[in-house]
Amino acid sequence: MQRKHFIKIIAGTTGMITLGSFNKITNLLEEQDETMPVLFIGHGSPMNGIEDNEFSQRWVAMGKEISVPKAVLCISAHWLTSGTHITAMENPKTIHDFGGFPQELFNVQYPAPGNPELASEIAGIVKKVGVGLDHEWGLDHGTWSVIKNMYPLANIPVLQLSIDYNQPMQYHYDLARELASLRKKGVLIIGSGNMIHNLRMVAWDKMEVPNYGYDWAIEMHANFKKLITDKNHAALIDYTKLGQAAMLSIPTPDHYIPLLYSLALQTDKDEVSFFNDKLVAGSLNMTSVKISNRATQSYVKPTDKAKDSTVSDSI
Ligand code: ZN
Repeated sequence: MQRKHFIKIIAGTTGMITLGSFNKITNLLEEQDETMPVLFIGHGSPMNGIEDNEFSQRWVAMGKEISVPKAVLCISAHWLTSGTHITAMENPKTIHDFGGFPQELFNVQYPAPGNPELASEIAGIVKKVGVGLDHEWGLDHGTWSVIKNMYPLANIPVLQLSIDYNQPMQYHYDLARELASLRKKGVLIIGSGNMIHNLRMVAWDKMEVPNYGYDWAIEMHANFKKLITDKNHAALIDYTKLGQAAMLSIPTPDHYIPLLYSLALQTDKDEVSFFNDKLVAGSLNMTSVKISNRATQSYVKPTDKAKDSTVSDSI
């Protein structure tokens, strides 16, 4: 990958927003026995969307490992807005929100349908704020680069929930908790960002060195995993108090906030496991989190399980 591929990535272009009715609750999806897992996925470079590499291979395996969802709701680092909005169109467009990448990446189309009724239902579930129904955005690369690997047939509805970039971290955590009932309705919720994401300090000459991280990134990589394992969400919400390594890891919170959405949905019946647990180019990590209900988690092939580390939620 080349330097120019990274520096032109547009972080969070705000699309045209229309405020729709969010009072209508259609109860589109029935409650089911299984509680869907929740994922946080480190998406890294957009090239992971088309490259066959260890990260994209794990996304493909994850798509097969968990039960087929009725819909996917993604909170992507690349949709930053004023106010909270949800995509509510029938056919979300594929957004190529980056520059300087090969034409092959711009040619990607991921024609998964939307689900306007479900968008209204989700907007109605959230009581904390009014959620706007959006008809302009679509699927940005934080969403499609991951989900096209998980569900290549593009036959599962995909919706995006925006990140209100004016709000503090606690806002996002509290808002996400209101989405908990969706897990019982077959909706797979995915936060898509990166825990450690400092593009200004990327070691371009170390791109191909496996698991290479600066000292501060190695420190924070371990610290993040400990805090997640310990379910110390208060410390993760208040990350600005975690010291210099945290501030270097999160120079801006756009790629970190999706993690808070995913963690907020963890209950005392869940266990947490990590996958794609690698540092990249000094100042990034791909570490991803699977939160799954102990009682209803899907069968995991031993070969996949061996690569991942699982910890039980002790609370
Ligand atoms: Zn990104």
